[in-house]
Amino acid sequence: MTVQLTGIGVSRGIAIGKAHLLQRGNLEVLEYAIPLHLLDDEVSRFRRALDVARGQLNAIRGRIPANTRADIVDFIDTHILMLEDSTLTIAPEHLIVSRQCNAEWALKLQRDALVQVFEAMDDAYLRMRKDDIDHVVMRIQRILINQHHESDDAGDGGDARLAGSVLLADDLTPADAVLMQHQGVAAFVTEYGGPLSHTAIIARSLRIPAVVGVRNIRRFLRDDELVIVDGQRGMVIAGADARTLDYYRGLQEDEQRQQRALQKLRGAPAVTRDNLHIELQANIEMLDDVDDVRAAGADGVGLYRTEFLYMNREDTPSEAEQLERYAEVVRALDGLPLTIRTLDLGADKQVDSGHTGGRLATNPALGLRAVRLCLRNLNLFRPQLRAILRASALGPTRLMVPMLSNSQELMQVLELIAETRRELDREGLAYDPDMPIGGMIEVPAAALTADFFAARLDFLSIGTNDLIQYTLAIDRIDDEVNYLYDPLHPAVLALIYRVIEAGANAGIPVSMCGEMAGDPLYTRLLLGLGLRDFSMLPTTLLEVKSIINGSDTRQLRPLTEELLLEYEPDRIRALLAKIAEI
Ligand code: PEP
Ligand code: MG
Repeated sequence: MTVQLTGIGVSRGIAIGKAHLLQRGNLEVLEYAIPLHLLDDEVSRFRRALDVARGQLNAIRGRIPANTRADIVDFIDTHILMLEDSTLTIAPEHLIVSRQCNAEWALKLQRDALVQVFEAMDDAYLRMRKDDIDHVVMRIQRILINQHHESDDAGDGGDARLAGSVLLADDLTPADAVLMQHQGVAAFVTEYGGPLSHTAIIARSLRIPAVVGVRNIRRFLRDDELVIVDGQRGMVIAGADARTLDYYRGLQEDEQRQQRALQKLRGAPAVTRDNLHIELQANIEMLDDVDDVRAAGADGVGLYRTEFLYMNREDTPSEAEQLERYAEVVRALDGLPLTIRTLDLGADKQVDSGHTGGRLATNPALGLRAVRLCLRNLNLFRPQLRAILRASALGPTRLMVPMLSNSQELMQVLELIAETRRELDREGLAYDPDMPIGGMIEVPAAALTADFFAARLDFLSIGTNDLIQYTLAIDRIDDEVNYLYDPLHPAVLALIYRVIEAGANAGIPVSMCGEMAGDPLYTRLLLGLGLRDFSMLPTTLLEVKSIINGSDTRQLRPLTEELLLEYEPDRIRALLAKIAEI
């Protein structure tokens, strides 16, 4: 019998392999009383378990392949750091003594208290940090209960059964995901998690097909059963008949063939059939990403998110440190242009150092974030402006300001940049006096008044991730309203079009650096709307280029204009399909 289950496809690709159920066993933690004279022994037992957990995680850390992305390593490091944090080391010891209970139970009490604090937070990103607590607590509890779990330690030679298998789990810890990739797992399927979960982020980085949120999957599927995973459509199929299997094998071969064909496009320019050159740039978050930019043959970096520099630390990076980091990226790009975005902290991008005043905003996405935060806190902003200006002396650099929403903000930023230039002149420090200054259009108010921004800036870049969130009034990291996130909403398309027109009228380039720019589904529509500069994850760049090279904007324009007049979702999708076919 064929079983077809659906979840959320979070990492594209087709995988066909034998199911491997990751058995954790149910962790049944019971409370029992510890006699007074044995409390010291119980504390020692807890400390030994912490040591074993540290040993396990350090062994996993040591086996991460050298070319693994830094953000994945960070996930593991966070867990290692948590094993040093007093909330998970000292507090449970106090509970063992004060409640005269066993270590497993003390950990459970502490975990429940911590999770309650996180769940009360009004921020989905922070709420997700509760997963980290659970992963670390369960690791220690398993050691205490003496329950072994196949991914608890790094093992020595790996498990041959995992190669090519489809891993089914309730949830995966970052450590699981890294180990499984090392052992050649073909796809991940989990019962829990959303598009922003660790598993999703890691799977995308590792380019392993993944579907999350498939409830009860381990009840429906057996070990060793042949399973098909479609990471784009979010489908998991078991017991498929010969025809279905052939169909998916065909899709898999097409995918592999397409990947090989795309590689040939690396050195080719992006040019439409009517001879328009399209700029294809990449989004990066750290120096390590520059390798991917080169591998994709991008024309430069259209968005360098600088928030990473400020995350996972208590202090703020100094001007000198920032200059060094930016200089490394400029050097690595070796002549390709770099667009450095000024700090976009707040909302979904939180840091530990309390720049937001230590206060939890009720609506962080509408609160003191990005340029608002920088203008409020010039001690934070000034060193970054100086560092970016000084980096511009080293290679082609552009400065981009996120979240502009009104004229005062823009004028203040421009004045601060002018002041910074005068300061650098006085100090005899070099910078490029012609460094282009641009702004991100990601607030509907800015899109509606894009003419104002276009007249005063050297370029604009449309941040669709936020523009869609604010236009449609949906928190982009709230799983409950994900279904409303729609780049094809007529209001969103009208705003995008307005910004592109404003740029054309003012004679300045308009780029798009939100996720929409890298989704091949929208490439032709965006060309039809007049977009000529795209910036996206390096992994999607070649596919977008192949679509551009097969498109003729003269044919796209009339159909796009027709689409802009539509309000019915079905009609819009039908026109989009027609645009894809011409
Ligand atoms: C956007 O909002 O589209 C964008 C590119 O910025 P970020 O995703 O970093 O908010
Ligand atoms: Mg944004």
